[in-house]
This record gives sequence, C-alpha cells and structure tokens, in this order.
Amino acid sequence: MEIRVMANILENNDKYAAAVRQRLADNKVFAVNMMGSPGCGKTSLLERTISALQNELKLAVIEGDLFTAKDAERVERCGVPVVQINTGGGCHLDANMVNSALDSLALDKLDLVIIENVGNLVCPAEFDLGEDIKVAILSTTEGEDKPLKYPLAFQKSSAALLNKIDLLPYTCFDLTAVEKDIYKLNPSLMLFKISCRTNEGLNYWYDWLIRQVEAKNHTKESS
Ligand code: MG
Ligand code: ZN
Repeated sequence: MEIRVMANILENNDKYAAAVRQRLADNKVFAVNMMGSPGCGKTSLLERTISALQNELKLAVIEGDLFTAKDAERVERCGVPVVQINTGGGCHLDANMVNSALDSLALDKLDLVIIENVGNLVCPAEFDLGEDIKVAILSTTEGEDKPLKYPLAFQKSSAALLNKIDLLPYTCFDLTAVEKDIYKLNPSLMLFKISCRTNEGLNYWYDWLIRQVEAKNHTKESS
C-alpha cells in the first residue's frame, strides 16, 4: 500500500515536471537542480557562481528551504532575481512547487535558473523537478562513505562537486576512495574538486556550466 502511495506521488510529480520542462524549453532556459546535505556549501557555491557568471548569463535562483528565507536573502544580495519556496518542513522540493515558482520569473529574459534544493541528500534525488541537470555537492567534512550510502543523488547527477577541498589536510577524508566510489556509481559524472572559501577549482565548474547552458540556448537572440 505504501509503495502505491509513493508511486502516485511520483506520477503526479512527473506531470508537473513535464510542464516545467516544456516552459524551460519554450524559453530556452537551462535549469540546474542543486542537491546536498545541510552545510555542504550549496548557498556558498551559488554565491560564487552568480558572481562569476552574472556578466555572461542572465540568471535567477529558486531557493528551497524548510522554514526560512536566510539563503534567499544571501542570494538576493548578489543582485539576481530570487524566488523563495518554503516547504513548511517538507524535506524536498517537488515539481509543482517549481512550476509555481516559475510564474514569478521573467523566463523569456533568462538563460539559467539554479534551484537550491532543501538540504538533504536522500529524497531530493527521487523528485524530477523538470530540470536539465542535477548536481550533487559533497563536502570533505561529511565523510567519505556518503556516495555509497546515498547513491541515488550521485547516480542521477551530471556533476558532483567536492567542496571544502582546502580542509582536506585536517580531515580523514580519503579522496581517492571517494573518487573511486563516485565513478563506480556513475562513470559519466563530471567531478569538480572545489573550495568556495579559497576559490580553488571553481573555474573548471564555471566553464563547464557555461558550456551546458550554451548548448541549450545557443539559438536565443542576445538582447
Ligand atoms: Mg543553503
Ligand atoms: Zn523529502
């Protein structure tokens, strides 16, 4: 019985995800669904990415949060449009929420929408939001066992960002083992070793992301 309930929820979600995907396609907007545990650095990565790309791309952010607007306030200071979704305790975003959030964005003027999911490495991976790619963020302070314990997030992602790489000397994090585990779960995953504190490795991520966006919206007229 519980399995059927879950199937219905996901089926319903997929209808909204298809609607989101269509709206993004109609406007040639690329969307990234950013997933990771609380404290792994999702919002910091957003801040860095916005600063680096906002002269090149027109971007907006959808912020998923349980109760607060703390992350949205941080992102707003970067000077891009932000839509806040409060899930009221819900542990993931679903496509219906994202579809509603898109109503508040001028999609025809945008190249890229980044969605910061609720801090959680489990169920966000199960919900298609209509995005073009999912990315998983893992930090060196969370422990190297996480990819194998939460495989779906890595299997469904196009890229994984290993954040807080600058803290490596102060942790027992086994980088080689994690890389091996991640590639075993998903051989085609792009892996970026980054630090949002020192900016190490972030240029590779920016370049890669710009290429993904351009591949979708290269026919969009520049204004
Ligand atoms: Mg955050
Ligand atoms: Zn959830």
